[in-house]
Order: sequence, then structure tokens, then C-alpha cells
Amino acid sequence: MKKLIILNQRALSNINPALLNVISYRKSGLSLNHIIGCSFDCAYCVRHFFGNYNMKEPAMVCSDQEAVSLLMSHKFFIPDVTPIQIFNRATDPFLKKVKPHLFSVLKYLDDKKLKNNILIITRGHVSQNDVEKLEEYKNIRITLLLTYSGIADPAIEPVAKNNTTITSIQTINAYKNKVKLILYWRPIVEGWNDDNDSIERALNAAQYTDAIVFTGYYHRPENADYLNSIGINTPTEDYARRKLMPFNLEQRILNKYRASGLNVPLFRKTSCGVSFVQNLPDYNGHWGVNELCDICPSEQKKVCQKHYKAPSTAQFQELLKKYDYDTKFIIDNGHIWTEGLGEEKRYHLQHILGYQIWDILKPHYKDQHGRSPFGQNINMELEMWYQKVKEQFYNSSSTKNG
Ligand code: SF4
Repeated sequence: MKKLIILNQRALSNINPALLNVISYRKSGLSLNHIIGCSFDCAYCVRHFFGNYNMKEPAMVCSDQEAVSLLMSHKFFIPDVTPIQIFNRATDPFLKKVKPHLFSVLKYLDDKKLKNNILIITRGHVSQNDVEKLEEYKNIRITLLLTYSGIADPAIEPVAKNNTTITSIQTINAYKNKVKLILYWRPIVEGWNDDNDSIERALNAAQYTDAIVFTGYYHRPENADYLNSIGINTPTEDYARRKLMPFNLEQRILNKYRASGLNVPLFRKTSCGVSFVQNLPDYNGHWGVNELCDICPSEQKKVCQKHYKAPSTAQFQELLKKYDYDTKFIIDNGHIWTEGLGEEKRYHLQHILGYQIWDILKPHYKDQHGRSPFGQNINMELEMWYQKVKEQFYNSSSTKNG
């Protein structure tokens, strides 16, 4: 098979600089993305945000060796601790030409005897041979997240028409043992796949998996413009940094799930699903946002509760000093308010502590679960709570020095 090319300087200069950043920190893990380009053509793809949607043929930003050494030497990387995601931004890890690079990275990490959680998100073709190879790794903890939305409209998801993802789910289920499998039910969007048939398709697929994680989608002008240009309606013109999942839509999903009688657990958060299948406490410390846990199996609640511990002020100050992070902070009930650290440093601290780290200007309102405000209930009581938190933060917070 023809190998992937490494883009030359001229080609690289035409790529959005954000895509050249091979390592980036997302809430679910430190992401390794040294291949860009995808042929799946999902109309809502996040590559619209980087002006990269038209790049259908994957290509490399750097070699596998360079990429893994960037990962291992990265300031945020902690052996055995940091969750890692591979090829989750601008390509699919199981595209034919990308797959050898996925296996080369995994082998390298496993040979280093690392025990980190590895998240591999795909909607591609996973064969029996692939599963058997994944099973051979001795150290890394692999979770496959198979993206399946139940969307039948090929204009939104061309991949839907050939059943690839469902076949992969069944194959993985048939041959896996150590490797864990999650149905990544996303994006769920009003008007696209919130009808009974679509929901049924997703729940049917879930019967072969160890857990289900359901989420909305990133709705921004860049992908909305494209969707509208090909005649697909989008639910709102309200664009937010967080994923879209209106309260009523979530309730309908939960009701359908309960009515289905399926006994595969359902989670709102990716890290919760991954932690459950790996029999670990949630590495994002969502136990501190306890309303999220109402749908979680009781055995998993015990695991999370047992390991959950707020750091002391002195411990948090030590961490800030160790990494030279500057912020005021207050340790609140289930989370720590900080200011201006940026997402990556917050996720870094969050994964070290297994405790939620929030920014004072990006509040998480009760029952919104960190989602876009569209379709959520924000009432006076919540607004007053936030004003009080801000007052307290600016009047009596600590810093790393006291
Ligand atoms: S108990 Fe809560 S925090 Fe832990 S995995 Fe379940 S939902 Fe997530």
C-alpha cells in the first residue's frame, strides 16, 4: 500500500497552524494528531473549524517517531496517568492508510510499559485482525469508542449507508477481551436523529458494547454555513464554545434509554464511560458534579466515591508552584475555581487530581452538565449563585504563595 506522505514546508505553510500543533490537551485526554485529512465527509465535521474539510487524502505533519517523542517529552504528559487520545481531531485512526501509524504509535507506548488510558475514536472499518493486534498489547489500557449516531441521511453522514460502523462494533464485540468498547452515540441533534427510528438504531447497536456515551455536537458558524449550503437545517444560530444538548433532548434520550430495557450503562461524559469500562474512578472527577451520576451503575459510583478527595489548599499551592501556574483559586464543593489558566492547564491539573478545575468566567450551572446554554434553564437562582461565587472569588481567593 502506498505510504502516507509527510507534508513539505510549502504544504505545511498552507495548513491552519492549530492543526500543526501535534499535541493538544482536550478534556478527555492529551491528543496526538500528526495525521490530517479524512475521506468520511461527515457534513458537521470539526475540520470545518480549521478550514481543512476539503483535505480528503490523509497526510502526515511529522513522522510517527517524532510525534511519539513530542508526546513523551510533553510538559503535560505523565506516565501511567495522562489519558491519551490518538487521531481524534483531523482524521480517523482506522482509515486504511492511517491504521499502520496508529499501530506503530500504540506499539511504541506499550513497549515503554506505559499503563495510560488510550482512547481511540473511530467510525471506520475495524477487522478481526485489528482487534487481535490490539489485544496483544500488554500494558496500555485501550478503549475503542465507535462513533455511531443513527443518522440515516447520507448528506449528513455518507458513511451511514454502508453499515461500516455497525459491522465494526459487532466484530470488536466478537473478538475483544482486554480491549473495551464504547458506543459513542453522537452527535445527537434535534431534527437529524432524535426521532424514534434513529434512537432505536443507536440503542440496537449499543447491545454489543460495554457502555454508551451520548453527546451533542460542536455547533459553530463554520460547520453551520456548510450544512446550510447543502440544504441541511441546523437547530439554532446560537453558537457556543460548548457542545449543544438542550435539556429536553437529553430527557427524551434518557426516557427512551430507560424504556428500552437495555442493560448497557449510559454516560453523559466520555471520561465516565472510559473509566467505567476500565474499572477506574473517573479521571475528570465528575463525582464532584454529582447530579451527573444519577444514571451511573452503583458499583461504579462506589469506585468513584472511594477515590474522590479534594486537595487541601497547601496541596494545590504545591501543584501550582511545581508547574509554575499563576492563578487565584478557591476550593469549592466538588471543584476548584481558578482564573485565566486556559483549558490545557486546567485539564492538566484536573487529570492529576481527579478533581474538577473550573474557570471563574466559564461557570458550570447546575443540570447543564457543561453544555451550550441553548435549550437550558437558567433561572434567577442560578444567576444569584454565580454572582455570589464571583464575589467570594475576587474577595477571598488564595494564590500559590498564600
Ligand atoms: S459515578 Fe459519576 S463520576 Fe463516576 S463514572 Fe459514574 S457518572 Fe462518572
